[in-house]
Amino acid sequence: MDIYLYNTLTRSKELFRPIHEGEVFMYHCGPTVYNYAHIGNLRAYVFADVLRKMFVFNNYAVKQVINITDVGHLTSDEDEGEDKLEAGALREGKTAKEIAHFYTDAFLSDLSLLNIDTKGTLFPKATDHIAEQIALIKTLEEKNATYTTSDGVYFDTSAYAHYGQLGRLNIAGLKEGARVLKNPEKRNSTDFALWKFSKPEGKRQQEWDSPWGVGFPGWHLECSAMSMKYLGPHFDIHTGGIDHIPVHHTNEIAQSETATGERFVNYWMHTGFVNIEGEKMAKSGGNFITLETLKEKGYSPLSYRYSLLTADYKKTINFTWEALGGAQTALEKLYAIFVEYGEEIGQIDKDYAEKFHSFINNDLDTPRAIALVWELVKDTALSPADKKRTLILFDEILGLNIANQKQEKIPEEILKLAKEREQYRKDANWQRSDELRAEIESLGYEIKDTDTGAKVYKK
Ligand code: AMP
Ligand code: ZN
Repeated sequence: MDIYLYNTLTRSKELFRPIHEGEVFMYHCGPTVYNYAHIGNLRAYVFADVLRKMFVFNNYAVKQVINITDVGHLTSDEDEGEDKLEAGALREGKTAKEIAHFYTDAFLSDLSLLNIDTKGTLFPKATDHIAEQIALIKTLEEKNATYTTSDGVYFDTSAYAHYGQLGRLNIAGLKEGARVLKNPEKRNSTDFALWKFSKPEGKRQQEWDSPWGVGFPGWHLECSAMSMKYLGPHFDIHTGGIDHIPVHHTNEIAQSETATGERFVNYWMHTGFVNIEGEKMAKSGGNFITLETLKEKGYSPLSYRYSLLTADYKKTINFTWEALGGAQTALEKLYAIFVEYGEEIGQIDKDYAEKFHSFINNDLDTPRAIALVWELVKDTALSPADKKRTLILFDEILGLNIANQKQEKIPEEILKLAKEREQYRKDANWQRSDELRAEIESLGYEIKDTDTGAKVYKK
């Protein structure tokens, strides 16, 4: 079945054609590990996971990279401000390495709580790829696309003819704005740092020698260097949040294509923001919510995953506790329904499977896929066993842990009470039967009378 993906580059849904038959190579811009990831950041990786699962569902071999930014991401996109890692180290009285290590582990554990499959995913770190980044600057230098100022080596964006195409940037307008440049040594306002020199005052924790002087690599550079190292100079898909379109991804394209002379990425995909009370959730702001906060408040990470799946990944969503509560109720109901279907596993329903497949292949239309789940559940024409098997199939993509829901073992004494009650019912002794039902309920279980007899569930 054909796969269609929305490509930011062309602002349209396109038929997906892989570079290598049967394989897909994807790069996802990873976290800057100076703090916990907030649930907005995590949306980007739930999306990446659904994308991966969709390709696996379509029998593709997936090669996937998520980078770990542990140096060089400055507090402003203008190549100004502090390095977030150095600032994090100062804040917590630890080394930048310790900070990076701690928040990388926290990130990986968040991914696992969200059922994000990372088997085979590479997580390269920027600090482990300094040589590759220096080599890339050298290549750009040979192509006359760089210049040096008093604070670093810059990429000259006028050296790349298609600069700003991804973000549909108004270059003339930007040139106009250049008159108020923060850094007067920049030739064009869009130029960006490839390498920044350590300042003479205040020694940095993380710095390296380079042909241009001691310093550290720019943030955009790491993604070009590492993606091309692991996926080749030209690969299929690159993703990130929509905030990456005008600067980070725009700059990645400019430097990569200038260095290699060929097309960098075929499909650029971007996830919408998670807002909270109408404002963007940001690590630097005080309004960020982590998975840990959700758990403390009694919500499961998978309820959050469910809530993300009910929205188009491209659109902004506004996070509210009410909506999360609704998602949790729906997911728990789904679990209970799945368990009630019993032990028997039947056949995949072809019609439902086909529909589901077409929804997810249509630019990951998870809202419709979730709606289909409920349609299936309500369909009286299907047997419980077939519904169960079909839901197990859907869960391969949804990743909601539906397939692992099991009937909890009911203690012997409860089963005995249920049996007694059944006998009273047969004898039409409704009073005793009701009393026993109440007793069973007071012990935390409930009885449902079905066509095939009474069944006991944990409440
Ligand atoms: P960072 O750790 O800040 O480098 O960001 C990691 C990923 O999260 C990037 O793909 C960002 O675009 C994305 N991101 C940042 N803030 C938000 C937000 N509020 N909602 C959704 N995604 C976000
Ligand atoms: Zn990146």
